[in-house]
Amino acid sequence: MSDCDLLKKGDSIKSRWRITHKIGGGGFGQIYQAYDKLRQEFVAVKVESNSQSRQGIRMEVTVLRRIQNRQHICELFSGGVSTLYNYMIMTLLGLSLSEIRRNTQEQRFTLSTTLRISLQILEAIESIHSIGFLHRDIKPSNFAIGRANSRQIYILDFGLARKYTDYGQHVRPARTEAGFRGTIRYASINAHNSRDLGRHDDLWSCFYMLIEFLLGSLPWSKMKDKETVGHMKATYDYTQFFANLPDVFENFLEHINDLKYEDKPNYEYLRLLFVSTIQRLGYHDDDPYDWEKS
Ligand code: ADP
Repeated sequence: MSDCDLLKKGDSIKSRWRITHKIGGGGFGQIYQAYDKLRQEFVAVKVESNSQSRQGIRMEVTVLRRIQNRQHICELFSGGVSTLYNYMIMTLLGLSLSEIRRNTQEQRFTLSTTLRISLQILEAIESIHSIGFLHRDIKPSNFAIGRANSRQIYILDFGLARKYTDYGQHVRPARTEAGFRGTIRYASINAHNSRDLGRHDDLWSCFYMLIEFLLGSLPWSKMKDKETVGHMKATYDYTQFFANLPDVFENFLEHINDLKYEDKPNYEYLRLLFVSTIQRLGYHDDDPYDWEKS
């Protein structure tokens, strides 16, 4: 147990959830596995100190409450505040797509797996947008497979989410300048340029993530400096990505490249791009995913 751990093995939350061990975090949030005495199953507990300035869990609970009972979204069992920490209790998931990719022999996914998980990822992103929120930190470690069903992909971590619509469901006017949010490797060029982000920026991050799944790395994977990576993204010849890939990825890029802050992406068009490519290449929904092969 490290000094800054907020919970330890054996601790109880509301006399119902008993902590078994820590499974992740150390950044803003800490993730633990716990046993739910009532439902007699394991769950995930996310906690953050309530003395820190970034209060991501409040936002996560707000978003998750509004988006329950959808595919690709964890069940939220409880969310609250104690004297030391804010917490939320949710479905326990399996490995993240970042861990799974790094565990593969060539550090990448096959085309069949990538195309089929793209459909699930797009649905997950559309779900969040449909309730008026942007995710703003789309990346492989924020997607995980289910434990009960390892063929189902879930989206995680709504701590950086932001409402992009007003009460009348109109897109809020863009702020002239916004602080950087997200993760340098997957951030959109708009994020690098401190622009207010729109729905298309989540899809830009999704695009970079899918290219990394297929190629095993991005040209700026080893670079840490935000300005350097932003410059590379803005000047890189993206046609190099597409040399050995079906057109779907270039068509995806063309679509998101045409969108501005307030525009609604054509999710159905993007979905059909993937569906038709999957069919044309003879892949099937029930083929094993890369992590199901021995
Ligand atoms: P942070 O806000 O600190 O980035 P995340 O919500 O992204 O926290 O979680 C960090 C890591 O913890 C994830 O990449 C994932 O591996 C693990 N994790 C998060 N939520 C769950 C969950 N519900 N079940 C299992 N593991 C989880």
